[in-house]
Amino acid sequence: MNDIPEGCKRCVRGEKLVLFISGKCSRNCYYCSLSKKRKEVDEIWANERQCSSPENAIEEAKESNAKGAGITGGDPLLCLDRTIEYARALKSAFKDFHIHIYLPTTLMNRENLERINPYVDEVRVHPSFLQAFSKEASETIMKEDIKKIEIASEIFKKENLGIEIPIIPEKKEEIIEFVKRVSCLISFINMNELELSETNFDIFTEKYSFNEDTHTVSGSVSVGTEIMKSLRKINPALKVHLCTDYLKSNYQFGNRLRKHNILPFGFQDKEGMANYFAVYCKNEEELKEAEGKLKLEKRTDFYIDIPKKRIILSEKLAEHLIKNKRYKITKVTEYPTFDKTEVESSPIN
Ligand code: SF4
Repeated sequence: MNDIPEGCKRCVRGEKLVLFISGKCSRNCYYCSLSKKRKEVDEIWANERQCSSPENAIEEAKESNAKGAGITGGDPLLCLDRTIEYARALKSAFKDFHIHIYLPTTLMNRENLERINPYVDEVRVHPSFLQAFSKEASETIMKEDIKKIEIASEIFKKENLGIEIPIIPEKKEEIIEFVKRVSCLISFINMNELELSETNFDIFTEKYSFNEDTHTVSGSVSVGTEIMKSLRKINPALKVHLCTDYLKSNYQFGNRLRKHNILPFGFQDKEGMANYFAVYCKNEEELKEAEGKLKLEKRTDFYIDIPKKRIILSEKLAEHLIKNKRYKITKVTEYPTFDKTEVESSPIN
């Protein structure tokens, strides 16, 4: 079996920080899967953490124990200075930090690619021809895409250059044709299952039917498998990866959660969710008062979580406080990620 690109390997293992560098894009693809909250909004997100400086992204990489990052958008070349600033900062903060970047072809030119080259390990080119609504237009745009990939191949090593595309079922032949024409310049292709989003909703609900999960497009994965088989015959050395929604939600995201740090005195379940025994306070004064009382008893097995105005307790301390009927204790299950979204919360006394 063919290998998959290094960026995909680390991503599936949950080791990649997703660095969303901006929602601003040089294109407006009809199939774009960005949410309304992200599309055309100039914000930076490292996983679930909004960033105002590269230090925030470094902090997120530490807390999620990332061994690399995937830079995405939007178009990272539209804010090239920012992209370089973040990539450079992450590279200097960590050893062997693998950065892959998603690049729409629109702004790919020699100057931009040479500038980004020192800071990225793997480039995933997103061609423009998939946006075309006729075969003739598609052929013209495809030629432009190929020229851009030729320039990229003079700057990046073949083993680090590939393409990334959504699997649009009716574009199967064009995708195979395109990959055939660039396969001497690249070493991998990553195909993403086509998904419904808020921003492609009208066009997708008119054009496609959906799988039982109600958001992935029927036929996208089966066409992806057919493309994969054809490409293996055309170029057996090409690494082909089919990135399904199932893989992303059940393996990649789950693995990322399991690797994420949690707060002291919590415990992580096998899904990677953080579980805590906690005393919730109404305000900071109440929090300080409760902290003072525990300190008077010379207890140290607790953690003050100021943003959530709560005291996280060791299991032993929780048992002790329950016996003494001192505080209302809640068992909470939440994502270990920066947003710490709660999924379950139940009072235990
Ligand atoms: S290039 Fe990517 S981010 Fe930009 S509009 Fe197209 S799919 Fe969306």
